[in-house]
Amino acid sequence: MADIIQLLPDHVANQIAAGEVVQRPASVVKELLENAIDAGATTIKLIIKDAGKTLVQVIDNGKGMSVTDARLSFERHATSKIRTADDLFLLNTKGFRGEALASIAAIAHVELKTKQENEDVGTCIEIEGSTVNSQEVVVTPKGTSISVKNLFYNIPARRNFLKSNTVETRHIVDEFHRVALAHPNIGFVMFHNGSETFNLPDSNYRQRIVNIFGTKTNEKLVPVDEDTEVLKISGFVGKPEFAKKTRGEQFFFVNDRFIKSAYLNHAIGSAFEGLLKDGAHASYFLNLTVNPQTIDINIHPTKTEIKFDDEHTLYAILRSAVKHSLGQFNIAPVLDFDRDANLDTPYSYQQKGEPSVEIDRSFNPFREEKQSSNSGTVSNSSYKKTPSSNWESLYVGLESKGTQTQQDFSEVQFESATKNESIFDNDNQVEKKQSTYQFHNKYIVSTIKSGMLLIDQHRAHQRVLYEDFLKNMTIKEAMSQQLLFPLQLHFSPQEINIINQLKTDLEHTGFIFQTIKEELVEISGVPVSVPESEVSIILEQLINDVENEVPDSNFSPTDLLAKSLAKSLAIKTGQSLTIMEQEHLVNSLFACKEPNVSPTNRTTFVTMTVDELDKKFV
Ligand code: ADP
Ligand code: MG
Repeated sequence: MADIIQLLPDHVANQIAAGEVVQRPASVVKELLENAIDAGATTIKLIIKDAGKTLVQVIDNGKGMSVTDARLSFERHATSKIRTADDLFLLNTKGFRGEALASIAAIAHVELKTKQENEDVGTCIEIEGSTVNSQEVVVTPKGTSISVKNLFYNIPARRNFLKSNTVETRHIVDEFHRVALAHPNIGFVMFHNGSETFNLPDSNYRQRIVNIFGTKTNEKLVPVDEDTEVLKISGFVGKPEFAKKTRGEQFFFVNDRFIKSAYLNHAIGSAFEGLLKDGAHASYFLNLTVNPQTIDINIHPTKTEIKFDDEHTLYAILRSAVKHSLGQFNIAPVLDFDRDANLDTPYSYQQKGEPSVEIDRSFNPFREEKQSSNSGTVSNSSYKKTPSSNWESLYVGLESKGTQTQQDFSEVQFESATKNESIFDNDNQVEKKQSTYQFHNKYIVSTIKSGMLLIDQHRAHQRVLYEDFLKNMTIKEAMSQQLLFPLQLHFSPQEINIINQLKTDLEHTGFIFQTIKEELVEISGVPVSVPESEVSIILEQLINDVENEVPDSNFSPTDLLAKSLAKSLAIKTGQSLTIMEQEHLVNSLFACKEPNVSPTNRTTFVTMTVDELDKKFV
C-alpha cells in the first residue's frame, strides 16, 4: 500500500496552532500588548473597533524590529526571547513560544509597521492568511504598530462562535486591565470605536488601580507588603466592607504576569474569614515575586496558569501577610460598627411620604441581640446568620394597607427570635385553616385535589417576580418609590456604560435616575419591590449578568434585566416564611403564565398524587 502520511503545509499548521493561541479578539489584544512590553515600550496604545472583530491595533514605542526580524517574526517558533530549553526556567519576558504572530497572521489581515531607533526608515509588511502580500520601506516612528483586521475571516465557524460585542469587549477590557495593572510604570491608552475609554499615565500601583477602577477605590485599599526568602508580596486587598457579591476585582500577578489560581485565592479567602458577609468576595491586587526557577509557566498555552514548586508555603505566607495587613489597618474593629444592610427595615415597610420614615430607617429588630452577643470582636455567626430582607417582596403587586404590612413585619421579628416566641406569632392566624406548610425552609407543601404539591420557594418566587417585571417593562407602568434622599452609588466607567444601556428598561421597572455621570449614579426612586438597602447589590449583580450574558437567539436586554432582578430579589432558600407569605407565594405562582419553570427553565414544583402516595404505603 502507498504511504499516506504527509506533512501539513505551513498555513494549515498555523491555522491549527492559532486555535490554541487565539480564541477571541481579546487573545490578540493580550499577545500584542505583551509583545509591546517585551519590546521595552514606555507608552502603548490599544485601538479597537467593533469589540475587536473588525480591528485590534497596538502601537508601541519599543525597540522595533530590523527588516529581517520583521519578516521572521511571523514564522512559527520564531522568537528572540529564548534560545535553549533551559531559558524557559529563567524567563523575564512575557512571550517565549514564538507562536503568537504566526498564529494571528494565519487567521486575519495583518499589517506590521516597525522601525528601530537608529534607522531612518522602517518596514511595512502586509500579510493575510499566512501569505505575505507586500513588504515595503516606510516612514514610521520608532517602535512597532500591528493592526489585526477581520479576525477569523477565513474560519467562518470561529467567527460565528464569537459572542456579542458586549461580551467580547468585556474580555478585551479584562485583558487590558490585567496587563495595565501588571505594569503601572508603562502608560496605556485605549480607544474603542473612536472614543478614548482608558487613559492611564505611568504612575504608582495605587494610582493605576484608582485610574482603572474609579476614584472611590482609593479609600478601599489596604496595602499588603511582605518580603521573605521565597516570596515577595506587594499590593493591596480591598477592605471587607466594600466586598462585592460578584468576583470582580481579583488579581494575582506572578513576576508581572497575571495568573489564575484557585488555591491562592483560597488563601486570601481564609485570611478574610469572619470579616465578609455571606456570599461576598474580597477584592485583591497582589503582586507575587518568586524566583523564576521555582515556577513553570509552560503548562498552559495562554499562560494564565502556572505551576509553583512549593504551593503550600506560598499559601501560608500569603494568608498570613493578608491577615497581618487587615489587623494592622484596624479592619476588624471598624466592622463592628458597620451595620449589616440586611438587617435594616425594608424600605417597602416605611410609610410613604410621612415623617415616620426617618424613624423607621434606623429601626433594627436584631440590633440589641447583635451587640450583646458581639461586644468588641467580630463573631462569625453574627455575619453568617442574617435573615434575608427579601421576604417582603412577596407582596409585590399586593394592594396592602399600611396597617396590614406593619403587622406582618412584627411577625417576622418574632420568627427570627426564639422558638417560643414564634408560637405566639401564630396566635393571630389560629382561626384560619392552614393550607400550606414550609419544609426545611426550602419547600412549601400544599394540597391539591389529586394529592400533594411541593414547591421550591426560591424558584417559584423568581418566576413570580420575573413575570411581574416583564409586564412592568412592557406596559411601562411600574410603581416607583421615591427616596427621601437620593442614593449615590459609585461605579467604574465600564459599569456606568452598562447602566446607560439599560437605563430605559430600568426606568420601566420603577428606577428613577437623577444623574448618571462619570463614576456616579444618583437614584431618586426605586421599584416598590426593591428595598433601598439592596439597590447597590442588585445593580452590581445586574451588571455582572450583562457582562457574562451568553447571547442566544432570543436574548433581549429586557428579559435579562427581568431575570437578573428576579434572581436578586427572590426569597432565598433557607428563609422562613409565615403562612400568609407561603399562601401568597403559592397563589401568585399559579397566577403566572408559566408556573412550572423558573425563568432559567428549572422545575418550580412537583406533584404527588394520592395514588402514588398510596403505593408507597402498601
Ligand atoms: P514571542 O513573543 O513568543 O517571542 P511572537 O510571535 O509574539 O512570539 O513574536 C515573535 C517575535 O517578534 C518576538 O520574539 C519579537 O522578537 C518580535 N516582536 C513581536 N512584537 C514585537 C514588538 N511589538 N516590538 C518588537 N519586536 C516584536
Ligand atoms: Mg509574543
